[in-house]
Amino acid sequence: MTNLPMKDRFELPDGMIYLDGNSLGPLPVGVTDKVQAMVRDQWGAHLIKGWNADGWMDQPARVGNMVARLIGAPDGSVTMGDTLSVKVYQALSAALKMRPDRKVILSDSGNFPSDLYMAEGLIRQLDQGYELRIVAPEDVADAMGDDVAVAMITQVDYRTGRMHDMATITQAAHDAGAVMLWDLAHSAGAVPVDLATCGAEFAVGCSYKYLNGGPGAPAFIYVRPDLIADIAPALAGWLGHDAPFAFEQGYRPAPDIERMRVGTPPVIQFAALEEALRVWDDVDMDDLRAASIRLCDLFITLVEASCPDMTLASPRDGVGRGSQVSFSHDNGYAVMQALIARDVIGDFRAPDIMRFGFTPLYIDEDDVRGAVDILAEILDTRAWDKPEFHAKGRVT
Ligand SMILES: *Cc1c(COP(=O)(O)O)cnc(C)c1O
Repeated sequence: MTNLPMKDRFELPDGMIYLDGNSLGPLPVGVTDKVQAMVRDQWGAHLIKGWNADGWMDQPARVGNMVARLIGAPDGSVTMGDTLSVKVYQALSAALKMRPDRKVILSDSGNFPSDLYMAEGLIRQLDQGYELRIVAPEDVADAMGDDVAVAMITQVDYRTGRMHDMATITQAAHDAGAVMLWDLAHSAGAVPVDLATCGAEFAVGCSYKYLNGGPGAPAFIYVRPDLIADIAPALAGWLGHDAPFAFEQGYRPAPDIERMRVGTPPVIQFAALEEALRVWDDVDMDDLRAASIRLCDLFITLVEASCPDMTLASPRDGVGRGSQVSFSHDNGYAVMQALIARDVIGDFRAPDIMRFGFTPLYIDEDDVRGAVDILAEILDTRAWDKPEFHAKGRVT
């Protein structure tokens, strides 16, 4: 049994109700000291010796194994670095190479724009008649025709929280002869994931959302172990080479998952992430999931009881939902700004979605009640209708 919440493991500002861990996880206790010590005692004292002496070069594999455990993947199947958009590109280009006579990348309209943009860019670059086919989320399984090379699907919709069933969709892809690529951006650390059992070829995700690795934390990429030795890295950087320090003129990919590395890893950021991931040693994902569904259900019930202008934009049934709840409201942006001014932190996604992430590691039922009380008050008093709450910042 996991003891939830574990608020003492996070440095949350007093009085804040933080419902945005789906976008940027909070600072875990221990990370500040760890990063400070790393900078001072490793970078400062050891300088370049740190690559060997302090294990910097092994971080992507070592931390990759920690992430692998959270997504049901075996050791040696995950490496880390770059950003998620880059990892999408790598996985997608490798997947297309595996099905040279098929020309369609299948995705759905709930996918995050960057994934779709990366696909567009890759298609333009290849200039070989590839097509990005975007269907409604509920039509993905039926859209797996025999022209589909790869299905690129984000499991949990960043806007609505709607969640795909990985086993069913992966099976449909494989039945159609397509390669399956999962984006687990809103799944890793949010819901139990079982990559090994579902048999998908590729998965990617980021570590600054539910994994609490901090802004700019490195992304991860999973390749099914039996395929690693045959995939063709599109981004053939020196640290994916079999022998980077032989400085050979030509590229030879490493035989293992290291071939998905590109260049120098963000070592300081890795120090933060590695420390942040320790929290998960004490978490059972099934307990976390049960608590998450309870919190989300409670939020929906309370909002619907006290905020008649808010319309649920997430699946009502917890089984088909990730760890967030979204409501639409005509003035969603301003209402969210008013909430943030009262220290209830969620975020807004155009055109009218107010997003609330529920992370049972540091959110409990009192937080849910507190957040809804403030929301109801803001709506009842129209406190949101002030010029400062309508002004748009660069990040929403
Ligand atoms: C958060 C998110 C991203 C962000 O990509 P970065 O390259 O890390 O900025 C991409 N795709 C999905 C599905 C996301 O949820």
